[in-house]
Amino acid sequence: MSEQTSSKNYSFQAEVAQLLHLVTHSLYSNPEIFLRELVSNASDACDKLRFEGINHPEFYENDPDLRVRLILDQDNRTITISDNGIGLTAQEAIDNLGTIAKSGTKDFMSKLTGDQKSDAHLIGQFGVGFYSGFIVADKIVVESRRAGVSEDQAVRWISGGTGDFEVQEITKASRGTDIILHLREDASDYLASYKVKQIVNKYSDHISLPIQMQKEVWQEEEVAEGEEPKGGQYVKTDEWESINSASALWTRSKSDVTDEQYVEFYKNLTHAFDEPLVWSHNRVEGNTEYTQLLYIPSKAPQDIFTRDAKAGIKLYVKRVFIMDDADNLIPNYLRFVQGVVDSADLPLNVSRELLQESRDVKLIREGNARRVLTVLDGLAKSEDEKDQAKFKQFFAEFGSVLKEGLGEDAANKERILKLLRFATSTNDEISTSLAAYKERMKEGQKAIYYVTADSLNAAKNSPQLELFKKKGIEVILMADRVDEWAMNFVHEFDGIAMQSIAKGAVDLGDLQDADEKKALEQAQEQFKPIIEKLTDALKDKTKDVRVTTRLVDSPACLVTSEGELSPQLVRMLKQAGQAIPDVKPTLEINPEHPLVKKLEETGQFDDLANIIFDQAVIAEGGLPEDPAAYVKRINSLLIK
Ligand code: ADP
Ligand code: MG
Repeated sequence: MSEQTSSKNYSFQAEVAQLLHLVTHSLYSNPEIFLRELVSNASDACDKLRFEGINHPEFYENDPDLRVRLILDQDNRTITISDNGIGLTAQEAIDNLGTIAKSGTKDFMSKLTGDQKSDAHLIGQFGVGFYSGFIVADKIVVESRRAGVSEDQAVRWISGGTGDFEVQEITKASRGTDIILHLREDASDYLASYKVKQIVNKYSDHISLPIQMQKEVWQEEEVAEGEEPKGGQYVKTDEWESINSASALWTRSKSDVTDEQYVEFYKNLTHAFDEPLVWSHNRVEGNTEYTQLLYIPSKAPQDIFTRDAKAGIKLYVKRVFIMDDADNLIPNYLRFVQGVVDSADLPLNVSRELLQESRDVKLIREGNARRVLTVLDGLAKSEDEKDQAKFKQFFAEFGSVLKEGLGEDAANKERILKLLRFATSTNDEISTSLAAYKERMKEGQKAIYYVTADSLNAAKNSPQLELFKKKGIEVILMADRVDEWAMNFVHEFDGIAMQSIAKGAVDLGDLQDADEKKALEQAQEQFKPIIEKLTDALKDKTKDVRVTTRLVDSPACLVTSEGELSPQLVRMLKQAGQAIPDVKPTLEINPEHPLVKKLEETGQFDDLANIIFDQAVIAEGGLPEDPAAYVKRINSLLIK
């Protein structure tokens, strides 16, 4: 088919020789990626022809349908990756296959340490482009004819992957490039068509070009008449069939994709059985160019709260699969989002390390976060009942994960707050938004009040709530583990202060009338001696003791100072194994409560003081420091 007329030897650029040595002498962790690299090059070559073909339609010759073909030759132990793309001139072959031009590989080379083991690991993470062929081949022959060049000006490039390569002038009828890999002894796997199909499926299914192989048919063994055939074999036909779907769903325009196709793709992508709640598919242009196809699942995975919960975004670069679980592409608090990002700007050989530093990746991450929040906002605001039901389900499944964003993503805090839904002291259902709460605020109310507890029930019955109930002021109840932590980052919503009713002294401002304020002042005066005695009796356990009007039925409650960790958060952090300094709470007592009134009469002031304190601890979900002592004190009082 091709006829040689001249031949010349060249040496590889020093860096290439070094790289080749490494490729061939290191244990390659993932040899099959050679196919991804070579198919990707073939696809690039077709893209280039498409581009140049705009001004030079004659480049298409009589062969307009661009494709990549994989040809397995068991007899000669070769696999050929053949494209009808732009092709190479002899000079281009010398330049492009003999030197390292691309910055990614140079970067990669500079990271090599000379230590075989760690270098092998590095190679596994980077693709090494064309040279990756030498992982599986001990000889590579490239035959190419550039589009628009006459048949007798084609080139053959031959190398054993050591110091040099040979370039010959040949005749080649078909346009484009054939990369012929002479497989090493240990690389026979790649002569099996099922294996090759599998790899293409894994890495290159979404290449938008058909990747074809020769169709095989099963031929039974010939047997004498009357006998049953015992075996047979697959034989190649002259027909070519595509082994990839040839059109990445996300590269199509939205209007060309049906809902069913989106759902099917989601299932393929996630191997999940649920249907996605919603999805969003966009081409983003600007400082960095990419396509995003993001799904919000309808069910949270089991491991959503474990440390190794994986992000669900797959990264592609120009339709070539790069990696799963690219957690740099979505903030952690949106780790439930599944989908695909296809970047036009990242290098194909991008590693996880590189992803962390990339400016493009940062822009993509921010763009993805904004997109997800916008989609959720759309659902939340929609009048459509179906959308409302979807939002409700979303929040039930992922609401507490989303709250992590309050601490993690300062830029989107306001948008996240708008999406949150809460139970309140007047509405058990987790359905009240902060905006709705604000609408219902009483005249004169200056803050959005909330209380956090270990459960909704505990929140609902917390002593701190008593006065608010009495006065008919709605209070937001929070019982997610993350609430207490997340609320540390939230100080206001839409210009209104957010105030924990368990933190600091209650200041109901205009909601408290003059009489009530006066009564408090009187009580403070009257209880001064008792407060002093209490402060003394509880000096090891409390920071301060004071009179309050926030209580109605309970004798006392614990409060934390603004900006301090609450006892509940301290408990949580300690359970998580963190070393947390003890914070002493403030004890507030209810001067109207009979137990408080009787404090002095019992003659057991110390016991009663400790009981009141321990009960306040219990009321907010904790345990007395010394439960046995607590029981003893109670019993001694009961006996009396
Ligand atoms: P990259 O693809 O990142 O440029 P590679 O090492 O994969 O790096 O390829 C090196 C160069 O070799 C390509 O840039 C291209 O110029 C040339 N090349 C490789 N394969 C082909 C092909 N099938 N057709 C045309 N040119 C090719
Ligand atoms: Mg390449």
